[in-house]
Amino acid sequence: MTEEQDHGRRTAAHGSRIDAYIDRYAARAAGMVASEVRALFAVASRPEVVSLAGGMPYVTALPLDTVGELVADLVARRGTVALQYGSGQGDPHLREQICEVMRLEGIEAGPDDVVVTVGSQQALDLITRIFIDPGDVILAEGPSYVGALGTFAAYQASVVHVPMDDLGLVPEALSEAITAAARAGRRIKFLYTVPSFQNPAGVTLTAERRRQVLEICRRADVLVVEDNPYGLLGFDGEPMRALRADDPEGVVYLGSFSKTLAPGFRVGWALAPHAVRDKLVLAMESAVLSHSSFSQLAVGQYLATQPWREQIKSFRELYRERRDAMLGALEALMPPGCTWTRPAGGFFVWMTLPEGLDSKAILPRAVAERVAFVPGTGFYADASGSRNMRLSYCYPEPDRIREGVRRLAGVIQQELVLRDTFGTGSVPAHGGVDTPGPDLA
Ligand code: PMP
Repeated sequence: MTEEQDHGRRTAAHGSRIDAYIDRYAARAAGMVASEVRALFAVASRPEVVSLAGGMPYVTALPLDTVGELVADLVARRGTVALQYGSGQGDPHLREQICEVMRLEGIEAGPDDVVVTVGSQQALDLITRIFIDPGDVILAEGPSYVGALGTFAAYQASVVHVPMDDLGLVPEALSEAITAAARAGRRIKFLYTVPSFQNPAGVTLTAERRRQVLEICRRADVLVVEDNPYGLLGFDGEPMRALRADDPEGVVYLGSFSKTLAPGFRVGWALAPHAVRDKLVLAMESAVLSHSSFSQLAVGQYLATQPWREQIKSFRELYRERRDAMLGALEALMPPGCTWTRPAGGFFVWMTLPEGLDSKAILPRAVAERVAFVPGTGFYADASGSRNMRLSYCYPEPDRIREGVRRLAGVIQQELVLRDTFGTGSVPAHGGVDTPGPDLA
């Protein structure tokens, strides 16, 4: 480096937003840019804005005093363990408890096959890290969870979307995508799916389709990554049988306590066939040495001493009431031509706008009217989804949800007037991929 360059870099780095290191990032960092919607979301977090954008669980409903006592007790009694490094695979007792949680979805597994991770987000990262070389194909539902797409992009995967309908991933489309990849000589490393109460579409793969999807993947030798953070948050009846329950060798299952307890503990896990589990533990150690012992023991203590099944039940009732508030308001207020999914669990409704409207273009106007949502394009790797938006009902109170939908319906109505007058609604600005950030994921 010349003296001049060095001087330039140092002055640029001091308090300036100029990126002095632009010429040396790894190729995989090229896609990591903030989108223009990010700035809007900063405004959307103001209290006067009803945010139907965030995917934040309603932790206010937790018995916070009890959790506080439990944490204090943990430090007093087991502080030397809780504040020490742990093992790369995770606390053995917690892994046993995780197996008990998974039994609710028909999974029979032993603690030896579980790896505790920093949320299921880290499990996604580790799985991608051990399987993906740049250009490898990942099949993923269209639309897909934005955080997974971010991870896949970071490892330079080539994401091929497989369409869904109201019954979840379409098996025929899956077969076609597998055949097309084989014809093109492309290697599919895995299918990424959120079969229950999908983020963002809110739909659930039926039992019949679960069988079909497993059969198709087994025949084509495609590994399935089943990401299931919402599986226990169904509004009707018993949880569905996980894909992993019927194919232990062909499925890597990812779970999380973020939605059934609290995301702040950052405790998730992967359940994987033996050899994959070994690689995951090594990848985990190279990423963070070990997960937080403190968080793991706190979650373990919570599961051991608190009525966690009851807590999940009360979360389900709370979210069901909010889902009803949202669906009722959409039915009553949305202009003709808008359609949306009817989730039987989880946090999200996926709306499709009438032809000629663009959800990203509408967002600034919506935020000006004090309501926010996430535009659909963020949930596709190929810029589809411009007529879609994700509406979440997990965080605002029911009255706020109704008010938010009322404001949004007004904005869409105005857009329709624009479209009918000028032939198009608002036109989107361009730039950046949609990476709305953790609180919106
Ligand atoms: N997968 C899906 C489908 C999600 O919706 C989320 C969070 N929004 C995650 C994974 C990551 O969750 P966590 O890391 O908190 O377990």
